[in-house]
Amino acid sequence: MEQTAWLSKKLNSGKILCQACAQACKLDEGEYGICGVRRVIDGELRLLVYGVAAAVNIDPVEKKPMFHFLPKSTAFSVGTVGCNFSCKFCQNYDISQYPKEHGHQIAGQELSPEQIVELALERGCESVAYTYNEPIVFFEYTYDTAKLAHEKGLKNIYVTSGFETRKAIDLLEPYIDGMNIDIKSFNNEFYKEICGARLKPVLDAVTYAHKKGIWIEITTLLIPGKNDSDEEIRSIARFIADLDPSIPWHLSAFHPTYKMLDVSRTPQSTLRRAYKIGQEEGLKYLYVGNIDDEDYESTYCPNCTKRVIDRTGHIGQFVTNDLDENGTCPYCQHTLEGVWK
Ligand code: SF4
Repeated sequence: MEQTAWLSKKLNSGKILCQACAQACKLDEGEYGICGVRRVIDGELRLLVYGVAAAVNIDPVEKKPMFHFLPKSTAFSVGTVGCNFSCKFCQNYDISQYPKEHGHQIAGQELSPEQIVELALERGCESVAYTYNEPIVFFEYTYDTAKLAHEKGLKNIYVTSGFETRKAIDLLEPYIDGMNIDIKSFNNEFYKEICGARLKPVLDAVTYAHKKGIWIEITTLLIPGKNDSDEEIRSIARFIADLDPSIPWHLSAFHPTYKMLDVSRTPQSTLRRAYKIGQEEGLKYLYVGNIDDEDYESTYCPNCTKRVIDRTGHIGQFVTNDLDENGTCPYCQHTLEGVWK
């Protein structure tokens, strides 16, 4: 399937500007965007992966990771091929880099927005997650699905690297209830060299989506020797805390993969060090990830410090949620921030 990529504009020069992400590709007839899934055909930008899912799973929402969003529920999770980044540590490079590495081929199974919503409801999911690869590259597919999902009472989650344009966020805002956004580093060189992207648009997207009232959680994959200095961790923590100290921050462990096989795994001590720095900067909700560390994966009431959501075992396997449907702590009646119903 293929459809008009309507989040685009014809320029006076005759080129087509894609308005989905901050790569801002300006394309001539026949050219592909950096993501490899948007191409100018017969004078208009087309989305080549509309209705073509390359990865489909039912995941615990905790796996996205979203920890303050309908705990213990499942998210019908969909991704396509293609990505606007080229991270050397990508864990899903087989789909994200597929078009670039297979001569612009598209892969996946046909799955319409209607089918996604139908299956999500049938399987008892409470949300649809656009994930695995970068969802903004298949914006029109996510938009139509999210709209339909809302009509049927499902929530929607974007798991993203945060390169959305303001225009895209404006369009997504009515339908996307939660976003997990990566802040991969606080160093523009890291973004440039390792991801083929830039830092500033990411910080702008986080700020703008938060301003629009979308529930945000942030993830940072800590890579030994690349982005794990005290200084850099503190800069990210400060940025989040200045925006809103109640934004949860997930500190995730790196495992050698793709083009970064020469870097070792993140030790538990690094994750705990980052957790402590986050606390020092005033963040209320910190979590380690990709590693079993129960005390550091659970949620504590910021008022009375009691454990209110307990997470043990493999991601989302054992979750005990003591909060009520409004996110109220049973011990001190403080309300925790999040999307609880
Ligand atoms: S979504 Fe793809 S085509 Fe559009 S600006 Fe981003 S990389 Fe370029």
